[in-house]
Amino acid sequence: MKQGITMREREVTDINEILRILDTAKIVHLGMADGDEPYVVPMNYGYTYLDGKLMLYMHGATTGRKLDVMRANPKVFFEIDCDLEPFEGSVACQYGISYSSVMGRGTAEILDNPQDKMAGLTYLMKTQTGKDFEFNERLVSAVSVFRINVTDFTAKHRPLPIAIQKAKENDND
Ligand SMILES: Cc1cc2nc3c(=O)[nH]c(=O)nc-3n(C[C@H](O)[C@H](O)[C@H](O)COP(=O)(O)OP(=O)(O)OC[C@H]3O[C@@H](n4cnc5c(N)ncnc54)[C@H](O)[C@@H]3O)c2cc1C
Repeated sequence: MKQGITMREREVTDINEILRILDTAKIVHLGMADGDEPYVVPMNYGYTYLDGKLMLYMHGATTGRKLDVMRANPKVFFEIDCDLEPFEGSVACQYGISYSSVMGRGTAEILDNPQDKMAGLTYLMKTQTGKDFEFNERLVSAVSVFRINVTDFTAKHRPLPIAIQKAKENDND
């Protein structure tokens, strides 16, 4: 069930800012349902955003639990975050961390076609390094590549408290 972000002032709707988060973060926490048990795996990812459609690409070994789980149930949920900046206060409840994050759900698709796998690895390396890499069929046959066809996502930003932002600005002057 989709639920709205409760603290509206922190929702990010600017797609350019959302793409910046996806470019910056590098790690996705991919949630799956292993029968009636949750299973979450951290992974590196690449992404594409074309015609309003977000897709994530991941790669790994050709065997393992996540692949077994995805084959049985391709529905996934993901979380990605960056800009982590802890801050302090005078009492415990004033401590916190600023962050930017994207979460969403989708369907996992394990790619069989070598051309699709090569494209997926190229997107992955572009997001991870900012560089363009090319792959051949021999290389892609040794790994699994899968894509998350994202159906919906939300993004959120928790800024530093204003007083801390101002103190940082003063330090930089
Ligand atoms: C920052 C980061 C980035 C990563 N990037 C990638 C990536 O791009 N591609 C990739 O394939 N893997 C990546 N990994 C490793 C990934 O988290 C999994 O360990 C790996 O993909 C194997 O997953 P699996 O479900 O096949 O596990 P299996 O090898 O089948 O695992 C069996 C059991 O081992 C335990 N286990 C598995 N993974 C972990 C883990 N990470 N930490 C603790 N216990 C674990 C679980 O209990 C699991 O049930 C990354 C890990 C980290 C921390």
